[in-house]
Amino acid sequence: MVDISKLQTDVLVLGGGLAGYRAAVAAREQGASVTMAYFARGASPYVIGCNAPIAHADARDSPDMFFADMVRGGYGLNDRRLVRALAHGAVEAQRELSALGVPFPVEQDRIIQRHLSGNTYPRSLFIPEGTGRIVLEHLAAHATDIGVRILTGQKVVDLLNADGEVAGALLWDRRAGTFSAACARAVVLATGGIGRIYADSTYPADVGSDSYGLALKHGAHLIDMEFVQFEPVVTVWPEACRGMEMPTAMLGDGAHLLNAQGERFMFRYNPVHGERQIEKAKMALCVQTEIDEGRGMSDDTVVFDTTVLPAERLESYKIHVRRLRNAGVDPLTTPPRVRPASHSQMGGILIDDRGWTGVPGLYAGGESAGGVHGASRLAGNGCADTLVFGALAGRGAASGLLSAPARDWDAVIAASVEAVTGHANETGQARASDIKDAVRHLMLRNAGLWRREEGLREGQEGLRDLARTAAADTLARDVDEMIEALELDHMLATARMIMDASLLRTESRGAHQRRDFPAQDDANWLKHIGFRTDHAGGFVRADAPIQ
Ligand SMILES: Cc1cc2nc3c(=O)[nH]c(=O)nc-3n(C[C@H](O)[C@H](O)[C@H](O)COP(=O)(O)OP(=O)(O)OC[C@H]3O[C@@H](n4cnc5c(N)ncnc54)[C@H](O)[C@@H]3O)c2cc1C
Repeated sequence: MVDISKLQTDVLVLGGGLAGYRAAVAAREQGASVTMAYFARGASPYVIGCNAPIAHADARDSPDMFFADMVRGGYGLNDRRLVRALAHGAVEAQRELSALGVPFPVEQDRIIQRHLSGNTYPRSLFIPEGTGRIVLEHLAAHATDIGVRILTGQKVVDLLNADGEVAGALLWDRRAGTFSAACARAVVLATGGIGRIYADSTYPADVGSDSYGLALKHGAHLIDMEFVQFEPVVTVWPEACRGMEMPTAMLGDGAHLLNAQGERFMFRYNPVHGERQIEKAKMALCVQTEIDEGRGMSDDTVVFDTTVLPAERLESYKIHVRRLRNAGVDPLTTPPRVRPASHSQMGGILIDDRGWTGVPGLYAGGESAGGVHGASRLAGNGCADTLVFGALAGRGAASGLLSAPARDWDAVIAASVEAVTGHANETGQARASDIKDAVRHLMLRNAGLWRREEGLREGQEGLRDLARTAAADTLARDVDEMIEALELDHMLATARMIMDASLLRTESRGAHQRRDFPAQDDANWLKHIGFRTDHAGGFVRADAPIQ
């Protein structure tokens, strides 16, 4: 075996987004030695709004109101113990971040909160210069101060597995061209969501489907994978801003959505509130319906009318305004055009309220984990989820350290190296990147916003064909190509869970909409569809009750 350097740590946190940093800080504050390893910063720097029911903007807000909004917005499919943890934990998270010096803007001694879609009250915290980026900077500085070891530019290629216990990870440093092994007594998986598994997507390139592929392989239980959120208003024009989500908070502030006739069409779907007080999943369906029924613009978009906002309000969205102006479009006078794109995953790894996955040594938090959002997540809850469940997973990992038996580390590491080198194929005719593109187009076509049996069955068949090609014929001449082939395995496993669960769920609920089963069916489907692997590595269905 190639010589592989090893490091030892109590808690290994995989992922350097908000969930990863919150986990690392929380575990370190419990006294554990902590190492983080990740590639880049994930989706977290793009966060604009983050919910916390601190009742600064409206005294009627409370954790109980937030709880009720989440369960309503999630169509009852949310695990209540996780919802409770989020409702209360978000208040605590805001206090902790403020204590770290995170500069949430204040007016008359009260933190300013915005109104995001699906929330009864304005409860979104924000920082005009970039909420996610600035919160991350503060967390990263604090993590460094308290002695968290941080390894960046590292690709997690496998979890180290010692007789069913997760005991670390195998890392690949692309710049150095070396493997290393991080051996740990507990691992927190915070490697984010589904990544670019759909052709239209807002995910950054460093997030793949590795969370789900790795978790499935190492014995975790995945639930609710059919619930993929499509961001309703993602920029298509100007071209230079393509893929940039327009903030739904701007709609809360008074921007309009217009179809090609100049009609504020949202009032047809949501008569009292129009663009406000509607969860994102529903709004995405409305926008897509306008486009599908021919009322969109000629480039299959609708208009996001920023010009009706008071200038001062509009200018407070500094990043968006700057990016649009850099693209030559002044949103004060010219509105951008938008359509839905895949944006986040509601489902994921089943966890308890300590972030434990049920697999010895393995914890998860943030977008990698599922259960709290149910069938649709409230705008601003992606961030709240990372802050609360990142911290819970970090604390859980630090208090659930495996005893440190003597392990045959060389054998454990060799098995993970083999997971990579097993993909070697000098003569393959297919490129992993081409197969990934084919998966993306197939997912958008067959398991997009609107679904039906015929398309889903065709999608299953298409995925089986692509998986056969991937297994037999993917060109992999060096470690980078082998790792890309491994990523493709994770992507295919994740796509399969989304496709299979979408076919199984013969009802419409939240982000999962079946043209052939338009009604919600609580009698049969008020439960999680789940998957795990059996002892032989086969893929098995494992539904779970709502907790
Ligand atoms: C454009 C955009 C805007 C958004 N805006 C909002 C918003 O305003 N409000 C809100 O609540 N939510 C928002 N969301 C959702 C929110 O950003 C995510 O749910 C949240 O940031 C997820 O955080 P995380 O820490 O779980 O994962 P991420 O922030 O995605 O971090 C994942 C981490 O894992 C690393 N990683 C992944 N795979 C590997 C691997 N194999 N090896 C090594 N490292 C790996 C990544 O590099 C990264 O460090 C937005 C999402 C996007 C894409």
